[in-house]
Amino acid sequence: MAKKKVTPMMEQYLAVKKQYPDAFLFYRLGDFYEMFYDDAIKGSQLLELTLTQRNKNSLEPIPMCGVPHHAAKNYIDILVDKGYKVAICEQMEDPKLAKGMVKREVVQLVTPGTIMDEGASQAKSNNYLTALHEQAGQLGFAYVDLSTGELKSTVVNNLASLQNEILSLHTKEIVVDQSLSAQTKELLAKLKILSSHQDDYQAQAEFSFISQDLHEASEIEAVMHLLMYLKVTQKRALAHLQKAVHYEPANYLKLDHYAKRNLELLVNSRTNKKSGTLLWLLDATKTAMGGRLLKQWLERPLLNQAEIEARLELVAILKDNFFERSSLQESLSKVYDLERLAGRVAFGNVNGRDLLQLKTSLMEVPQIRYVLEQLAGKQFADLLAKLDPLEEVVDLIDRAIVDEPPISVTDGNLIKAGYDPKLDEYQDAMKNGKLWLAQLEASERELTGIHNLKIGFNRVFGYYIEVTKANLAKLPKDRYQRKQTLTNAERFITPELKEKEDLILGAESKAYELEYQLFVAVRDQIKDQIKRLQSLAQALAKLDVLQSFAVVSEDAHLVRPTFTSDKSLVIKDGFHPVVEKVVGRQSYVPNDIIMSPTKQILLVTGPNMSGKSTYMRQLALTVIMAQIGCFVPASQAALPIFDQIFTRIGAADDLISGESTFMVEMKEANEALQNASENSLLLFDEIGRGTATYDGMALAQAIIEYVHDKVKAKTVFSTHYHELTDLEQTLAHLENIHVGAVEKDGQLVFLHKVEAGPADKSYGIHVAKLAGMPSELLTRADKILTKLEAHKQDQVSPAAKPEELIKEEGQLSLFAEETPVEPKAKPVSKQADKVLKELGQLNLMALTPMEVMNAVYKWQQELE
Ligand code: ADP
Ligand code: MG
Repeated sequence: MAKKKVTPMMEQYLAVKKQYPDAFLFYRLGDFYEMFYDDAIKGSQLLELTLTQRNKNSLEPIPMCGVPHHAAKNYIDILVDKGYKVAICEQMEDPKLAKGMVKREVVQLVTPGTIMDEGASQAKSNNYLTALHEQAGQLGFAYVDLSTGELKSTVVNNLASLQNEILSLHTKEIVVDQSLSAQTKELLAKLKILSSHQDDYQAQAEFSFISQDLHEASEIEAVMHLLMYLKVTQKRALAHLQKAVHYEPANYLKLDHYAKRNLELLVNSRTNKKSGTLLWLLDATKTAMGGRLLKQWLERPLLNQAEIEARLELVAILKDNFFERSSLQESLSKVYDLERLAGRVAFGNVNGRDLLQLKTSLMEVPQIRYVLEQLAGKQFADLLAKLDPLEEVVDLIDRAIVDEPPISVTDGNLIKAGYDPKLDEYQDAMKNGKLWLAQLEASERELTGIHNLKIGFNRVFGYYIEVTKANLAKLPKDRYQRKQTLTNAERFITPELKEKEDLILGAESKAYELEYQLFVAVRDQIKDQIKRLQSLAQALAKLDVLQSFAVVSEDAHLVRPTFTSDKSLVIKDGFHPVVEKVVGRQSYVPNDIIMSPTKQILLVTGPNMSGKSTYMRQLALTVIMAQIGCFVPASQAALPIFDQIFTRIGAADDLISGESTFMVEMKEANEALQNASENSLLLFDEIGRGTATYDGMALAQAIIEYVHDKVKAKTVFSTHYHELTDLEQTLAHLENIHVGAVEKDGQLVFLHKVEAGPADKSYGIHVAKLAGMPSELLTRADKILTKLEAHKQDQVSPAAKPEELIKEEGQLSLFAEETPVEPKAKPVSKQADKVLKELGQLNLMALTPMEVMNAVYKWQQELE
């Protein structure tokens, strides 16, 4: 289309568009941003805009749609949120003054990874742009949050770790170059993350400064490409970017993506929301910065005991000092998002209100310092050192910015009186012009002795001094310049009057102009202090998270954990903190989890709904809470420090779609078996459930044995295969526990109490009975059970059993055909036939009570 004859403007448009083929081009035309051609067609659909045409009457009209410039932000956000990029092309000169074509330039490329200030809902989340560079078999990886300036990097060893890093950062965009291998590209494609190409970079002082603490070539390259991409897309100062900090994923508790999901650390897997997660429980932060840091801590629990204890110590002090803590909370709640404010100061997009937010935030610092000094100076010394009140900045803003500034920075009313003498004069002139002329009139009268001398104004030559002809003689010759002669008076001007006139008439526009300049100067002075601001912000964020832990520790009656080095684990009266919060403390049954140094595996049995999964999750959450430096849900807790947590939570609890659940289950189990160390925690919840009963059981047993002999990690394994409990006899480091339930008045009552030994009875048939299954069926099930139990008595080695039982399975599947349904008087309808068939084929052992209920409900519906 570029070949066709187009207007000079469309020529300009096409030239710009050519540079941004993968972005929507918002092309400024007066008060609108316009999109043309394909951008317009696609954009009008995505944004629900009316599609119109330019050059309607020509042979080939150009599709077009537009958004008003003042509402553009909304539309840009929508597109970027959907994963697109938007190039903003502005008019670089005033169209009225332009000779020929108005100059236009792209001033910013907004992308999913670089979008800033996303509004209140996103305040407690980071938005990370990542970058990847592959070199000599190494994967250099870097990430930046453009709004806060945080920049970190590392080298990852394999694609699995890369996937982990990418997923845990929730990045929406990754900067890549031609160095990536096919497998890496494939992974990125699978993860559906927007890849943005930045193939080269120009070395520059700023970049070298930012990357100066890094050593690995691939890592430095990743940072360089990342910085270049920012430079190219943002086209402005990046003064707030912090020096790149190298991090080692291996220095943190490793929790893969599956585990984080399973344990519902940050998102509730049913609702995809925060409610009902560990984050939700722990978040009593008062600032957005604290909220973001809490998430970061949850993503990366610590391994270093000294660091953990240091956090715990501060939490303990804050927990024990209610009044000081309340005072800190009150102060923190008045602190705005300093990190992002600092970023916007650097970017140059702050207004007067932002600076006031900065001021009120900084003004809380002395009070916070005071409280911490009162509390216990020594433990808080590190934090105190960083809690810099930046008095000069407070003072500067206080002197310069009015108390209620407008949103705009170019329309005046921004700078305080007394800050700048020239501005004061302008403002004086505007406000007091009349009064001031009256004063001049009075002083002129006094000076000349002419009592009826007056000052007036006309459009032709502005302000003048009018003297009646009778008094002309009294007027001194020097200063007065005649301008106009009337019949009985003459009008004069003086240099002083003209100067004042200039002031009065030009005051407004001059004042606005000067105010803007003064504002920019203030902003630039603050910009010089960005590093201090960022350091302060980090300290406040940390303090906020610690006070949040203290609050939650008190409200949720948590206890300070201690750490063991002999692989022993003691949790007394432990509970799942989220479930407890939801069901209430009264209804929750606390449980102990105890593993001596040599006990590796707890095998948990018990009926469905008895609390097995909850018990296992409780352990994982306790470990994570301890290793982020928070108190833990128990009356007493002594834990080893774990290096990794792997989870495999039962197929029935899963919402994973696409891949067969059994495949997912095996992949997760494999991940754990291959990577776990002796210091890891494994949670295997009803493994093997996703397949036919006996091959599932065989696999489950083999996995337990493998963990027991090879992996040696601390493991909790829940199962509905009652037969596995016999393993206790052969595996020295395995112990049976069970969650009890009793039958009471024909009701199955869950006690949720974990006790020693295996569960002694299968409750499946009781549940089926409670669900209202026909009695013939239940009798039959009882018979089969007895048969299986009898068979079990014959077995000596539990290992031999599954194979034997596979034969038995033949009988089980005959169940359908053989179900002794007594022939009724009436012939069975087709529908009833179908229901009976399904009923016969139902694999009771593999279902939850709820699933049974649902099946029965469906049958009832069908029979009606
Ligand atoms: P299972 O895995 O044995 O089927 P779950 O762990 O899913 O059982 O627990 C079923 C329900 O029982 C949970 O939704 C929870 O509300 C409740 N529950 C579990 N453990 C306890 C407990 N210790 N105290 C009170 N309620 C519990
Ligand atoms: Mg369960």
